[in-house]
Amino acid sequence: MAPKAKFDPAAPENAELIARFERFGLTTNSATELVRTPKSGTAFRALVDETGLEGKTFPTGQANALVKLSATGSKLSPDARKYVVSRIEDGSVVSPDQVAAAVKYLEANPAIPPDAAAFDKAAGVGISLTLEQLPGMIKEYISSLAKPIASWADQGPFMGGIKGSTSDLKWAPAADLKNAVESVFTELFGDKAAAAKARAEAAKASAKPAKAKAAPKAAASATASSSTAGAAPDLPTRIFEEGFLSEFHKVGENPQIKPELKVQHLKDTKGQVYTRFPPEPNGYLHIGHVKAIMVDFGYAKFHGGRTYLRYDDTNPEAEEGRFFQSILETVRWLGFEPWKITYSSDNFDKLYLLAVELIKRGKAYVCTCDAEKIKEDRGGGHGNPKPCEHRDRPVEENLAEFECMKNGEYAEKTACLRMKQDLTSGNPYMWDAIAYRVKKAPHHRTGDKWKIYPTYDFTHCLCDSMEHITHSLCTTEFIPARESYEWLCDALEVYKPRQYEFARLNLQGTFLSKRKVRRLVESGLVKDWDDPRLYTIIALRRRGIPPGALLAFVSELGVTTLLSETQLQKFESTVRKFLEDTAPRLMMVLKPVKIVLENVPADYSVTVKVPLHPKIPSMGEVDTTFSREVYIDRDDFREVDAPDYFRLAPGKTVGLFKAPFPVTCTSFNKNDAGEVTEIRARLEDPALGGQNTGKPKAYIQWVNAPGAVKIDEVRYFKPLFKSDPPPADFEADVNPDSLEVFTGAVIEPAFYQLAKKSIADARKESHERTARAAQECEVANEENKGEKKDETPKDGKNHADDPIVTADQLVGMENIRFQGMRLAYFAVDRESTIKCIDEPADVAPGPRDGDKIILNRIVSLKEDAGKKA
Ligand code: ATP
Ligand code: MG
Repeated sequence: MAPKAKFDPAAPENAELIARFERFGLTTNSATELVRTPKSGTAFRALVDETGLEGKTFPTGQANALVKLSATGSKLSPDARKYVVSRIEDGSVVSPDQVAAAVKYLEANPAIPPDAAAFDKAAGVGISLTLEQLPGMIKEYISSLAKPIASWADQGPFMGGIKGSTSDLKWAPAADLKNAVESVFTELFGDKAAAAKARAEAAKASAKPAKAKAAPKAAASATASSSTAGAAPDLPTRIFEEGFLSEFHKVGENPQIKPELKVQHLKDTKGQVYTRFPPEPNGYLHIGHVKAIMVDFGYAKFHGGRTYLRYDDTNPEAEEGRFFQSILETVRWLGFEPWKITYSSDNFDKLYLLAVELIKRGKAYVCTCDAEKIKEDRGGGHGNPKPCEHRDRPVEENLAEFECMKNGEYAEKTACLRMKQDLTSGNPYMWDAIAYRVKKAPHHRTGDKWKIYPTYDFTHCLCDSMEHITHSLCTTEFIPARESYEWLCDALEVYKPRQYEFARLNLQGTFLSKRKVRRLVESGLVKDWDDPRLYTIIALRRRGIPPGALLAFVSELGVTTLLSETQLQKFESTVRKFLEDTAPRLMMVLKPVKIVLENVPADYSVTVKVPLHPKIPSMGEVDTTFSREVYIDRDDFREVDAPDYFRLAPGKTVGLFKAPFPVTCTSFNKNDAGEVTEIRARLEDPALGGQNTGKPKAYIQWVNAPGAVKIDEVRYFKPLFKSDPPPADFEADVNPDSLEVFTGAVIEPAFYQLAKKSIADARKESHERTARAAQECEVANEENKGEKKDETPKDGKNHADDPIVTADQLVGMENIRFQGMRLAYFAVDRESTIKCIDEPADVAPGPRDGDKIILNRIVSLKEDAGKKA
């Protein structure tokens, strides 16, 4: 198999074709994707030619529907395809789901034109369901089921069943359907959370305590390194429904060297999807890994399958205990629960035996050349590999030499085991890749048991095989490695998983590489691996980015094989959009200056109700006191008025958000430094001698001076580097103003209420989720009982750093997030102390001695402000 030439969208023939596809209405991404996969591109062109579409332009949705037809309609007659095209063009068949259903119908009923009513029914034509219709239809559907549903536990299969049914419900918008099902289930089975809790408790009661590794720890500790709402964010499903990730093989369909392997595979997996996320525990995960986690875990979750978290710990030198825990925590924080946690090193015994087997099959040899010679034999980077002088050693000799390697008789770099692959292949990965090397370093888990360690090329595919991975998803730099991956599975005649590759996520203006981040941390240029200016996931979490926003970001970018760099603005805009709809709002003043309302008596005090979100009444409202002295932001006052200025200035009237009357500035005081120290104003309350000024042109936020909560620090972050991209000696390019700290800010007292509630909610949700995970863990343990493991827990291995599942790992200060009205989105930093969050529920929240409040700005409210700030 020759290696795939790298696809270049800019090559003239590709660019031309991409442009041609774009003219049909496809997005650049979809058009490029079509050209990259010649099979799909050809099918689409065939459809265009056959049905005379050239020269037409469609709305994107219709263009996508046509592509779907070209991909799925190959078995239809040309007339049938033409018919579907006509129904796409007239707007009656819209979504890819509908196209798929239309194709299925016409495959079974080939007469053209089809029975229009039957076709329309099958393809969901003209069905638009209102929200009000759904509950009734759902109940009807429930009563039509042969097997009655009994509890909340049936919700997943129930939703799946609707998709496969003939009910019109399957054409309802997914989110509406889900909401409606939840409300019907609540009616039938009571509160969902309560039911989950009861289930989890029942499971816990039946679980043996020894196994209760996943049992939640008591209270959330303030030291939890970071975190968010314990509730798993909703998984955006679009990337699994259409495009690259929707086109993978069905379980069992991947080719095997022997038919028995397929039979066994189906037995092992019971037809379920199995994936794995295989990080190397050599650093903290970064935003790129969010994509990998979402693809690996999400793909399985979407298909009702399972995902291993596999620590790829074959390199004894690189691992550190803290990374194991952090990686698990990160996966869970993003809303995923590993089916099982495994280690490549757990398989060292098995891998060693497989290496011996490979030698016995005459497909591996011990090579004692030095690195230079190996490189030269492998073509020295210029192609034309030469066989190594050890390539044809007899099997017995290889076995003996490998034994010597294992026993530590060779020094590092003086011997290695190489696979005897294919020197005639055009793919350098096939030029006798190294399978084992000598390393004398002790391993984190296996201590000094091994003197030889398997390479990635030897380990990865075989661990995938042992774990019955159905879809081995990785990034595109592994495309050339796929040939060797498949070669090794076939050489040993073991189950061969199918590897698929997607593009890495890259961000402009920063870098993600662990090595470079380490340099920043070690040189003290950032505070730690979770410094909010970084793009490690722990940094994003600390900064307050919600996990759901990260998933939304990956989903919006889409998953394809095309490498691209994403602008930071795009990331921030997704986060902003996400927070817009989810974050409550509080009045806060960053740079306060006091207004004294001269016409108001000293004991004046009114309570005003301020909604926590103007568009989401269900978030509730808070009471805020309005009295004679309030703070406003310095930036909302000008000493000299201007015609196009609508906020406060001498003689000018402005509205104070939700306050009973506007205020008009009458005078102001300055200190020697020329700073405004106090603004005098009149409350325009007719009862207090104010005037009827009508509706003010602008409203500003304010904080009542008595009772204002002082914020110790508000941290604003700006890009870490002055240059984009940062240069090689990036240390010198660090922007000294990338962290700006404001120390005078104030916020309304309702902050404490919000803080206490946010943490209580997060704890509740995370305990429930963790208990559920524990329950699933029990299922896993139960199922694995019969499975033989390499080593039992009494394996002499170091388990000190085994990561554990706890509820508190999902609960951190960053769960307290809000919009500081007219300022920005903020989250509480983990260095803060807010004592009332740990007090009993019935104690009113408020300030306590020793409190310290530090806020991180998550994102600005507007992109422009973000650039300026
Ligand atoms: P880095 O060297 O960038 O720190 P890595 O590739 O060494 O990362 P691993 O821990 O080996 O990271 O990766 C675990 C998984 O995450 C792999 O499948 C890898 O392909 C994937 N991954 C790593 N970086 C990215 C990225 N930027 N975008 C998408 N997936 C990524
Ligand atoms: Mg790596």
